[in-house]
Amino acid sequence: LREPQLQLTRALRAIATLHDARLQATSGWFHSAAAGGPEHQPAYVNCVARVRTDMAPEEVLGKLQAIETDAKRTRSVTRWTPRTLDLDLLLYADRVQDDPSLTLPHPRMVVRQFVLQPAAQVAPDWEHPDCRWSLSQLAAHLRYAVPIVALVGPTYAQRVSLCREILEATDAQLLAWPEAIATADSGGLVAERRVQWRRIGQEQLAAFTWTHLSAPIICPFWPSEFNDGGLTMDRPPNIPIPKVLIHIAPEAMSSDSCKTSHPCGPCSFQHIRSRHWGPILRIRSDTKRQILEECLAAIQAMKPC
Ligand code: ADP
Ligand code: MG
Repeated sequence: LREPQLQLTRALRAIATLHDARLQATSGWFHSAAAGGPEHQPAYVNCVARVRTDMAPEEVLGKLQAIETDAKRTRSVTRWTPRTLDLDLLLYADRVQDDPSLTLPHPRMVVRQFVLQPAAQVAPDWEHPDCRWSLSQLAAHLRYAVPIVALVGPTYAQRVSLCREILEATDAQLLAWPEAIATADSGGLVAERRVQWRRIGQEQLAAFTWTHLSAPIICPFWPSEFNDGGLTMDRPPNIPIPKVLIHIAPEAMSSDSCKTSHPCGPCSFQHIRSRHWGPILRIRSDTKRQILEECLAAIQAMKPC
């Protein structure tokens, strides 16, 4: 893409002239390095717009996709690039929906500096309907919070194996359970063992020195997962909120042999939809490769613009 700002200017003009939509504010341009793909790609340029409309969200996405298609068509004389223009619907009022053709809020927005920084410019007080933090809080958190990336969802063994692959591709460091605990058998007393695990995990996290970290810490567990009964567990005050808490849908990795008997087995996550735990990246991809790519892209997107 040779002239990304020109593309964006045209897209904003197209949005402004939509029937039934009023462009209320646009952010400045935010440059970000290309995440993944071939090397030596030019930097991306990002912008967030706030629009008032009576259209339904599906209709809005349809209009955005039509503008994307138009942008690609005008560039067809030069070499085609897949991401000439990418228009995402980040939020629609306080709507939450899981439909793959339109997921709201946009699932990756909370881990992307190049989204949150411009979004906080145009709608600083807009509450993210999942964690109920404002966009300016989310932007500040992603920028300044301790660089912890915690993984929850599938079994502990699956998460550790994913962490090891993340370590190979990044400069991150691992903070794992002591081996003896990680491989312990639950012995059937799952509820009791979960309490015990939560205590050990919290002690381990509370004892860790979170200051002056030069590289991200990858943690294949987090106390938020030891919350039986669907009640919201308060965050212990001496444990920081992870910069990125990644929830991987347990069924996405269910082909592995390690199943639910372990106290740190798969858990469901509705109960950590809460202010206490901050933003959550929910991953539903089908293969381990895709999950790994999502995690790596999230770590890449944590970097400031
Ligand atoms: P990304 O925006 O993550 O870089 P793409 O633009 O290639 O990825 O993804 C496009 C697909 O994502 C489309 O099929 C679209 O239906 C779907 N989609 C789901 N939720 C949203 C959303 N909130 N905004 C834009 N596209 C979405
Ligand atoms: Mg998109």
